[in-house]
Amino acid sequence: MTLLSVNDITVRYGRLTALRGASLTLNEGEILFVTGPNGAGKSTLMKAIAGVVKPVGGSIAFRGETISGRSPEDIARMGFSMVPEGREVFGSLTIEENLRLGIGMRADRDQAARDLEMVYSIFPVLLSRRHQHAGALSGGQQQMLVIGRALMAGPKLIAIDEPSLGLAPKVIDDVYQTLVKLRDTIGLTLLIVEQSATRAKLTGGRMILMRSGEVALEGDARELASSDALKQAYFGYG
Ligand code: ATP
Repeated sequence: MTLLSVNDITVRYGRLTALRGASLTLNEGEILFVTGPNGAGKSTLMKAIAGVVKPVGGSIAFRGETISGRSPEDIARMGFSMVPEGREVFGSLTIEENLRLGIGMRADRDQAARDLEMVYSIFPVLLSRRHQHAGALSGGQQQMLVIGRALMAGPKLIAIDEPSLGLAPKVIDDVYQTLVKLRDTIGLTLLIVEQSATRAKLTGGRMILMRSGEVALEGDARELASSDALKQAYFGYG
């Protein structure tokens, strides 16, 4: 079933057009990689879905409802969680306090308590260190914490901006194993902005390649990541 559809959206920052008629669909339980060179519009796409930037053209539907034009809070309440680039944790708060911040405006406190248990079962390192300050965590553990915090809102869809940035390869493997596990166990749908097509190839799923604010290519991640068409679109040669 289609969970998200982005139809022909255009986003401008002043005179600069960051997205020019970008479209995509995302089915429930699917992983979609959004790849492409710097400045292609990947983060802008994510922010447009989240309602943080407003498209000047096109429309976005989530769970069958039009969300373009709605506030970020409304969109979050409908089940969309965003993990922005940069892994911002509140360093002077404990890990558990950071996770509880993710509950936000959520009404169902019993379910939130169950979700906290779920987050701890997926990330045992957060459980064992729950009373420590988040600032003491390693980069990889902080990435787990921000993903855990996003899960505390009880989302259907999580969008993550560059989860591997600045992490060691082994740690990136752990992060991705966890993301796949989340899809397989709780049916989470994932939109992942990732510069590395290789990572998309290793993980599988679907992939789009953005270039100059447009979706230049779309297909199966494993097939597309190995294709000459990708090299051509990415680097301008084949
Ligand atoms: P990167 O991989 O470098 O993060 P990206 O594919 O995520 O790039 P965006 O961050 O979406 O690309 O940027 C798309 C274009 O919009 C770029 O030319 C960028 O300079 C511009 N841009 C992004 N944010 C703003 C902003 N707040 N104000 C003005 N221009 C912006």
